[in-house]
Amino acid sequence: MSIALVIPDRKLDQLQMKLQQLLPEVPIEVWPDIQQPEAVRLAVLWRQPPGALAAMTGLQALHSFGAGVDNILSDPTLPALPLARIVDPALTSSMLNYLHAMVLHYQLRLDQFALQQQQLLWKPRSPRKLQQICVLGLGELGAAAAQFFQQQGFAVSGWSATAKQLSQIRCHHGETGFAAAVADADLVICLLPLTAHTENLLDQQALAQFKPGAILLNVARGAILDDLALLQSLDSGHLSAACLDVFRTEPLPAEHPFWAHPAIQVTPHISAVTNADTAVAQIAENYRRAVAGLPLLNLVDMKRGY
Ligand code: NAP
Repeated sequence: MSIALVIPDRKLDQLQMKLQQLLPEVPIEVWPDIQQPEAVRLAVLWRQPPGALAAMTGLQALHSFGAGVDNILSDPTLPALPLARIVDPALTSSMLNYLHAMVLHYQLRLDQFALQQQQLLWKPRSPRKLQQICVLGLGELGAAAAQFFQQQGFAVSGWSATAKQLSQIRCHHGETGFAAAVADADLVICLLPLTAHTENLLDQQALAQFKPGAILLNVARGAILDDLALLQSLDSGHLSAACLDVFRTEPLPAEHPFWAHPAIQVTPHISAVTNADTAVAQIAENYRRAVAGLPLLNLVDMKRGY
């Protein structure tokens, strides 16, 4: 019985070694060098090529190496098995650090001072009035972000698929709750999963419902945002800035207009990278559960797609 790491284009020595330390008796193999594919019981996946699991006929469960699972579920050859994902305080803490840094960046107008520097322009300005923050998605990361910013003194609203109650957060849900969630927000953070329902959700119509001058932070998935609608919204002055960590195509192609847009901050999908040190404990536990026939931790609801 073994574990296969099916994570192309990444150095996996550390992950393999750390997982091996927790499960010394279990062979941990790195795809495509799998000696006995029929002995694999758990496959750890990230952007696996379709067909990669075909020979693993004894698989009992699947594990995403990240919090999101859209890249895994898009594989038409994926076997119908339980799929778990990473839910990790270290990942949440990394996301909160990124979001906090970016909120301060905009609050202190560091985006505008960077442009002024290019023009050799010395023009002091007082901080932006960022008082209200909206978080789209109130799951593991979104709820933590909403609570964090509420504790920092912001008025926070949130939006989810189903009704939520979070202390001192104005919670809205469902299609009809979207407009009220974003209406008063000076800054909107997107922490939704990419599903059939959220693809292109932030289109022209949705962005038009944001407060004039609002700032968008997208740290979820690029395909949730309509690129052209964002550019139009920034160019018309309806939105004042956007910080994007995720893109439809990654790496962001050199010719993409986001790179050079003066109101867009681009970061290369680094807001919350899975930490092998902390993630291995969950993967090891889910391996033990899979072989014992027990329910996995942090299971993905395959019907909802997240
Ligand atoms: P999660 O726990 O699954 O939470 C997802 C939230 O989105 C839930 O509150 C859910 O509502 C809401 N939602 C889903 N579909 C919706 C819809 N159609 N309308 C309104 N709300 C909807 O996910 P998470 O762990 O917080 O992670 C969120 C996403 O962040 C991941 O899927 C991943 O794509 C992204 N991410 C990015 C990075 C990065 O480095 N940039 C790192 C980690 C994760 P309910 O609660 O009502 O179901």
